[in-house]
Order: sequence, then structure tokens, then C-alpha cells
Amino acid sequence: MLGSVVVGLGIAGCVRMRDLVAPLPSSAAEKLSISGFVSRRTLKDQQGVKQITMTEALSRADIHVAFICTENTNHEESIRQFLEAGKHVCVEYPVTLSYTSAVDLWNLAQQKGLVLHEEHIELLTPDYKQLKKDICGRTLEKGTLHFTGGPLKPNFGFPSFSGISRLTWLVDLFGELTVTATSLVEEKENKYMKMTAHLLTQQHKPLTWIEERGPGLGRVKRIDLQFQDGTISELPAGQREPVGLFMQDLVLFGRKLQGDVSAAELQAERSRILHCLELADRMQQLSASAQA
Ligand code: NAD
Repeated sequence: MLGSVVVGLGIAGCVRMRDLVAPLPSSAAEKLSISGFVSRRTLKDQQGVKQITMTEALSRADIHVAFICTENTNHEESIRQFLEAGKHVCVEYPVTLSYTSAVDLWNLAQQKGLVLHEEHIELLTPDYKQLKKDICGRTLEKGTLHFTGGPLKPNFGFPSFSGISRLTWLVDLFGELTVTATSLVEEKENKYMKMTAHLLTQQHKPLTWIEERGPGLGRVKRIDLQFQDGTISELPAGQREPVGLFMQDLVLFGRKLQGDVSAAELQAERSRILHCLELADRMQQLSASAQA
């Protein structure tokens, strides 16, 4: 059994605790147990689990794994601390807020023989799995992915990072992309922002990704994907699955810890993640230079 600690008890952290307390039977998730949680607040036991300090989490020999579920600005430092302490890490996306720091951390994990896993539950949703099937073998002409949602909480980073799950969809569906332009409209006083990023596929077909957040905006993804043989303008409704998204991710992480995921799969995943972070970095730079 691998003892673990959950750091950050927000939405994601509470779901992680729930899944670690009752892992999917007969799955690789059963190899993980929960030894404590770390929070900045002083809390009583949560779901039967005790609060411990960060120092204890880093030094206890019976803790082998850390789940980093804090705001994005805090990920890099926490991951580094746990890897340096010899612990495997599962971090909620995005792993960090820059491409270079993510490369550094993956190299550190490799040197130490540890697993660094970035959760990507957006690739596990039934609707996304159906969309991927529906697109398979079709030739894209042009497309748009427009996400709207409520105002972003502080400390989640530039929209190309906080919204990296949308970018991951585009890369997972259409392969490596190039950013041609990015603009950002921000009205801080109204808690409103809209990022528009223009991308090209390797076949030079245009894709537009819009992240729009503000009060009253519903959490919705709108797609308009035009193919040679027709258009998809609504997300398909995939078949609902009995196992929750975070639990599916926990099983994948457990399989990595057991050495049960092939080197080729790990390499493909790492390349996709780093490519997305490189694009997100570029978008941030382009938006800054457009505003300068
Ligand atoms: P949240 O704001 O609900 O939770 C973050 C928590 O971390 C807060 O409780 C905060 O107090 C705590 N925290 C911050 N710094 C800390 C520190 N130094 N030590 C201990 N605790 C600390 O946010 P969330 O929605 O749970 O998101 C957390 C992470 O999960 C983010 O990286 C996000 O991108 C990712 N994520 C969330 C979801 C989701 O469905 N909520 C899905 C995928 C990924």
C-alpha cells in the first residue's frame, strides 16, 4: 500500500479524499490509502481523515504520494517540495503556469525515479469520448471552441493556463498546433475577461479558441467544427459511465505507480502536456506584446 496526502481541500481536494477513502474495488486505485490532508485552515477530521502539517507530509516515511489540489499558482512549489522529498505526485491540471518549470519538474521526477502525473479529467468525460469517436477519420476545414464560465477565482493564472483543459481537447483531437495570434479583453472592475487565440493545425487549417468568463455566464462549451463532409455544432451526448471522472484518473495514476502504463503511452502523454503548456506560454506572450 502507498500512503498518500491530499494538499488543498477545495472542490478537487474533497473529491480526491472521497475517492481515496473508498477506491474503486479491484482497481489499481486500491493500492493507495490516505494518511492525512494538508490545509492552510485548521480543520477537524474530514471524511475520517486527520489534518497534518506540510512538514509532516514531506517527512513521514509512510507517506509515499502527494495529491496537489491547491490553486494553480501554488502547484510548482508544492510539486518540487514533494519530489525533492522522494514522493510521487499527482497534480490537478495545469501542472504549472509555465512550460519551462513543467519540463524541470518532469526531469526532476525522472531523475528521482518518481511518477509525476497531471490529471486531465476533461479527456475522460463521456461527451468528449463520443466527440473523439465522431471526429475520427474526418478532415477538418476550420473550427471554434468557445468556453464560457463564471469569473475566475484568484491565483489560477493566465486564461490559456487556467483553461488548459480546452486547449488539451483541441490538441488531442487535431494534433500539434501553432499559435498565430492571441488577444485578451479584460475588465477587472466587472470581473470579465475574454481571451481569443488563433491556431493552425499542421495541415494549416484554422482553429479559434475563446475563453470567456464573467458574472452570469453559464459554464458551457460551444463547438463549431467544419469538416469536408459536414459540420459538428453541438457536443454529442456520450454514454454515461458508472465510474466517476476523478476515480478514472486515480486508477490511471495507480496504474502508473504500479509500472502498468507503457513507456510509449507515458511519452505520448508527456509530449501532449508539454506541447499544450508551450502553446499556453506563447499565448500569454502574444497577448502581452499585443497590449504593450
Ligand atoms: P478550490 O479553490 O476549490 O480549492 C483550492 C484549495 O486549495 C482551497 O481550499 C485553498 O484554501 C487550498 N490551498 C491553497 N493553497 C494552499 C496551500 N499552500 N496549502 C494548503 N491548501 C492550500 O479550487 P479547485 O476547483 O478545487 O481547484 C484546485 C485545482 O484543481 C486547480 O489546479 C484546478 O485547476 C484543478 N482542477 C479542478 C477541477 C474541478 O472540477 N474543481 C477539475 C480539474 C482540475
